[in-house]
Amino acid sequence: MSIEDNLKFVCEDINNTLEKLGRSSKDVKLISVTKNVDPQTIQEALNVGITDIGENRVQELEKKMEYFGNKINYHMIGHLQTNKVKYIIDRVRLIHSLDRLSLAKELNKRAKKQNLKVETLIQVNIAGEKSKFGLSLEEVVPFIESILKFENINVQGLMTIAPHTDDTKVLRDVFRKMHNLKEDIQGRNYKGIDMNYLSMGMSNDYKIAIEEGSNMVRIGSSIFGKRKY
Ligand SMILES: *Cc1c(COP(=O)(O)O)cnc(C)c1O
Repeated sequence: MSIEDNLKFVCEDINNTLEKLGRSSKDVKLISVTKNVDPQTIQEALNVGITDIGENRVQELEKKMEYFGNKINYHMIGHLQTNKVKYIIDRVRLIHSLDRLSLAKELNKRAKKQNLKVETLIQVNIAGEKSKFGLSLEEVVPFIESILKFENINVQGLMTIAPHTDDTKVLRDVFRKMHNLKEDIQGRNYKGIDMNYLSMGMSNDYKIAIEEGSNMVRIGSSIFGKRKY
């Protein structure tokens, strides 16, 4: 299957899922995850309409920024080391992986210096997996309260990576908890904290994520094929 075919399939699948839910097809933003995908291959996807790419390593992200310039919106979806913030802060559309105070401090400092607002999502490790980054469910509200003072950070929502499993019950439970958390935070009306995006759903689980309220999916292998590490 070509990238074009894959992309068509994924988009149709997303649209069908939304239609069944009575939601508009514009309701979900697709982030094409391009880690380990070379620029030529990404260009193919660009030609058939992708607008946003996600990378989990700063070095890879920088390479792609160099190659494509402002033809694409860039998303940092992986763990972000504090000392690498300066390389991407003014070029990235959204950082999905805000998960600790030290990172918030650095983001705010660098953003202030450049007179910009950095758009972020808070990463939540809702299933409490040891192998994953992100705040636990209980830590999220206190964390938000501790970063309210950072005027150059705009929180736009939440992100999670679900456990790697085919157990749909487990997945649905994770996504539902995220949705509830988002509603809870929304209800608190914090200034500078918006809950516009719920970034959840990958190749394996995006349909369930959308059914449970996701409006931003990060899809790699279903578009570009299985990654060779
Ligand atoms: C790799 C990755 C994805 C995409 O995973 P696929 O299973 O290839 O769709 C999504 N989000 C994050 C954070 C990733 O690292």
